[in-house]
Amino acid sequence: MKNILLVEPKRSKKYHTTYPPLGLLKLSSYHKKRKDKVRLVSGFVDDGFKPDIIYITSLFTYAYEPVHDVINYYREKYKKAKIIVGGIYATLCPDHLKERFKDRIEIYRGLIDEVEDILPDYKLVPDCDSTILFSSRGCVRNCSFCSVPRIEPKFIPKKSIKHLIYPGHKKIILWDNNILASPYWENIFDELKEVNLTVDFNQGLDARLLTEKVAMRLKELKIPIVRLAYDTNSVRNAIKKAIDLLSDIGIRKRRILVYSLYNFSDNPEDFLNRIKDILEWGVVAYPMRYEPITPMPKNSYVSKNWTKEELEMIAKARRVIGYGGAFPPYEGLRKKILNAKNFKKAFELRPPLL
Ligand code: SF4
Repeated sequence: MKNILLVEPKRSKKYHTTYPPLGLLKLSSYHKKRKDKVRLVSGFVDDGFKPDIIYITSLFTYAYEPVHDVINYYREKYKKAKIIVGGIYATLCPDHLKERFKDRIEIYRGLIDEVEDILPDYKLVPDCDSTILFSSRGCVRNCSFCSVPRIEPKFIPKKSIKHLIYPGHKKIILWDNNILASPYWENIFDELKEVNLTVDFNQGLDARLLTEKVAMRLKELKIPIVRLAYDTNSVRNAIKKAIDLLSDIGIRKRRILVYSLYNFSDNPEDFLNRIKDILEWGVVAYPMRYEPITPMPKNSYVSKNWTKEELEMIAKARRVIGYGGAFPPYEGLRKKILNAKNFKKAFELRPPLL
C-alpha cells in the first residue's frame, strides 16, 4: 500500500480553470483500486500526509509558473518521494521542465493508457455536478495553430461512454476535439439521449462534418449552447451552412457560439471580416487569441501581422462592449462592427465623457 499525493497547482489568474483536474481524478480511482491511500490537494498543503508518489498536473504552456512553484515546494518537502509531472505543459514542453528540474522529476508525456477508460474519482470533488469525458482522443485534422495533433497524435474513438458517467451528475461535458469524426458518433449520441442529461460539446463541433443528419440528432439532446469554430476563411461556407442547418431545426441563433482565432497567420482586417460574417449571420462571436506552444506569459505573444495595440483593442472591446468576452449579435454592437470601414473603426471605443 502506497501513499499517493495528487497535486493541482494553486488556482489563480496564472493558473485558471473552472474544471476539476480530470487526470488526477482518474489516477485516484486507479490507485484506490490498488488499495493505495490517496490525497488530492490544490497548491501548497502540509497536513502530515507522507507521500511515496506525488503526481503533479499541468495546464496550458503559458501557465507553467504555478507548476514550477508546486514542484519546488514538494521536492523540498518530500525529498524521497517520486515526483511525476504530467498534463499539457509537461507533454508539449518536456525540455523546458527538464532544464529547470533536472533529474528530480519524472516527466510523463501524453495519455496514461491504464487510466484512460476509468471512471474518475469524483468523490474528491463533491461540489462538481458535471461528468467530463472524452468519447474520442486526437483529431482527424492537423490544423497548424492547434496543439491537439502533438498532444494526442492518434485519433482514437470509443464505442461507448456510459461507464464514464458518474451517478447523480446533472450534466455531461465532452472534451472531444472532434466528436463528429468518430465512426461511433451515433452510438454516443444514442447514449447521451438515453441518459437525458444536459450536454456540452465543450471543444466545439466541426462544421465541415455537421450534416442534416447530425443536426437532427443534435435536436434530440439537451444542449444549451452549440459551439463552432471559424478560424480561417477556408471554412466560411461550412460555417454558414452549419448555422443554417442548426437554425432550421430550431436552435436559436443566440445559442450558437462561434470561436474565431486571431493573432496567428491572419491579420486584423481578416479577423474583422470573420467577426462581421458571424454577426451578420446573427450568432455569437467569441474571439480566441492565439497562444504559442513555447512557454511565455499569457497574452504576451504578438504575431507578425498584429501589433500589441491592435490586440489590446480587441481585449478592451471584449471587456467594454462585449458580454463575457463574446460579441453577441446585439443591435448596437452589430451596427458598430458591420458598418465599420476597417479594424480600427470597428474596435475603437469612445473616450469616456468627463
Ligand atoms: S479540427 Fe480542431 S481539434 Fe482538430 S486539429 Fe483542427 S483545431 Fe485542432
